[in-house]
Amino acid sequence: MIGTEKAGTATKGYATHGPEAKFAPFNFVRREVGPNDVLIDIQYCGICHSDIHQVKNEWPNFMPAMYPMVPGHEIVGPVSQVGDKVTKFKVGDVAGIGCFVDSCRECQPCIDGLEQFCQKGSAMTYNGTEMDRVTPTYGGYSNNYVVDEKYALKVNAQGDLSGVAPLLCAGITTYSPLKRFKVGPGQKVGVVGLGGLGHMGVKIAKAMGAEVTVFSTSPGKEADSKKLGADNFVVSRDAEAMAPIANSFNFILDTVSADHELMPYLGLLGIYGTLVVVGVPSAPAAVYQGALIMGNKALAGSAIGGIPETQEMLDFCAEHNIVSDVEVITPDRIEEAYDRTIKSDVRYRFVIDMQNQ
Ligand SMILES: [Zn+2]
Ligand SMILES: [Zn+2]
Repeated sequence: MIGTEKAGTATKGYATHGPEAKFAPFNFVRREVGPNDVLIDIQYCGICHSDIHQVKNEWPNFMPAMYPMVPGHEIVGPVSQVGDKVTKFKVGDVAGIGCFVDSCRECQPCIDGLEQFCQKGSAMTYNGTEMDRVTPTYGGYSNNYVVDEKYALKVNAQGDLSGVAPLLCAGITTYSPLKRFKVGPGQKVGVVGLGGLGHMGVKIAKAMGAEVTVFSTSPGKEADSKKLGADNFVVSRDAEAMAPIANSFNFILDTVSADHELMPYLGLLGIYGTLVVVGVPSAPAAVYQGALIMGNKALAGSAIGGIPETQEMLDFCAEHNIVSDVEVITPDRIEEAYDRTIKSDVRYRFVIDMQNQ
């Protein structure tokens, strides 16, 4: 190439330039489509609560903010270009991208399909760098993404894809622990919190055949819980409702990221029951060892999922007609959507329409 112009893929996105800054249009250049890459024309990108934490630099030790930041890791859209060596996709296929876009491919977690735990640190979809540790990554609040085909997911859904986008983070975050602890028919499963994660947990646990109870601090969410398929609804602050169901659950998925107690939920577990946490509160919760010992109970955590399991989740959701309940917005409403997400005023995920900018 002659001249000084950088070769690559021109991209239009929305970036923020500091923790207090507003989103503004941001033009940048992604890498050229390499032999193993696909170019995805982004149709929809979900707004995950972790986008808000990172934009506002609320996780300085966990995921410090790098600006300009183009968030977004719930990405879906058609493939518009493929490299010479690409075999998994052809032009026109629908593809998705989740929380990471590359990893070292050599360490044991990578070999085991647990790329989210790459020992060298996976390349996050945004607010991170490529594996060269230099090139910044920009996320899905943009009109395209160039990604190695190994880190893109196949989406088999037809028609409206807006509800598919949140599966790439909220879907896999809830599917992975439900699968790992073999949730199925005949089991009593609790889902704590009915937000972006919780509503996916309800749908997936029901599709796996479990009897599902939603625990929420908002009595107003009872009707919605039932609509989503939950069998029972309990206001978690209501001691009279909590007492008779003690020691009765096989599995409880705690999706709440606000500070809260874990002990009440350990008390709801039956023998060999498991409580899995997927939210990251700012303050640690106290756990009394005796509550785990009596009943051989387990407390565990779970972080998204690797590429093979994310694909399995997408296939499971397609088979069971599961999508996220979404409110679609245009990019000029990102801030409003953030404010409402913080107030839990969304049923249940905002998704940005990136096609019509
Ligand atoms: Zn997320
Ligand atoms: Zn690795």
